[in-house]
Amino acid sequence: MQQWKIGNVTITRIEELTGPIFDPARFFPDFDPDVFDEHSEWLYPNQVDSASGNLIASMHSWLIETGHHKILVDTCIGNDKDRMPYRNWNRMHTPWLRNLVKTGVSPEEIDFVMCTHLHIDHVGWNTRLVDGTWVPTFPNAKYVFARTEFDFWQQARERTDNFNEVNKQTFDDSVLPIVDLAEMIDGEHELIADLVHLKPAPGHTPGSMILQLSSKKERALFTGDICHHPIQVYRPTWNSAYCELPDQAIATRHDILESCAAHRTLMLPAHFGPTHAGYVTRGIDGFGFAFA
Ligand SMILES: [Zn+2]
Repeated sequence: MQQWKIGNVTITRIEELTGPIFDPARFFPDFDPDVFDEHSEWLYPNQVDSASGNLIASMHSWLIETGHHKILVDTCIGNDKDRMPYRNWNRMHTPWLRNLVKTGVSPEEIDFVMCTHLHIDHVGWNTRLVDGTWVPTFPNAKYVFARTEFDFWQQARERTDNFNEVNKQTFDDSVLPIVDLAEMIDGEHELIADLVHLKPAPGHTPGSMILQLSSKKERALFTGDICHHPIQVYRPTWNSAYCELPDQAIATRHDILESCAAHRTLMLPAHFGPTHAGYVTRGIDGFGFAFA
């Protein structure tokens, strides 16, 4: 079990799966193989698979335990969900929930579930299948995400043109069933006074948010999909093919990397390969990343 400490707060990674999932040339429209050659020393094998050349992607949630509250950040893909054409994610049976329970925390004890955004791989465990019905996995939690994000996907759901069926399924089986437990956030939001702060970080999706944790003068930032892969720290203009607002995504990524470097902040993204988290550095050539 991987853990980090920020002041008095414990952060634990809850794994769903890790593997060489994405072809970099398809994932990054601006992909340049020379950049991988330049960074080969640290990329292989933890961040890029040596055999296939695919990007290593981890699907995990972050469990934050403050002593008074238990918060989950992002809820992966989930079990039993119809996710075709994503064959590898279709009707999965992973031990994610058992991995959570192994930390000593039951689903009933979770106080907040924060979804950085409402993509397929960030909302899955919001619900689970019980007797043919999708029910909230965390019945006593408040689910928090941006209102802008909810509105965006709800409107997208109502369009019949050009909208991916799988996104609609995701909204229906993993977002709508928890809507009565949801608190939709407008702008910035203090989730726990002096400790947990939510901030808008639009670009990857219109309502993407990040979670800032501060304890005893130490700081961590849960950055969702601001960067999917650590190569984007070195090439912050590389968007993923899934960034909804490309120019905004680049500006937001740059701001967040700058802020992480300036305040020596532990950055905890949603998909980096091992060790999955680290510190952004700022040099004359741009940003760098030190895994921690
Ligand atoms: Zn993601």
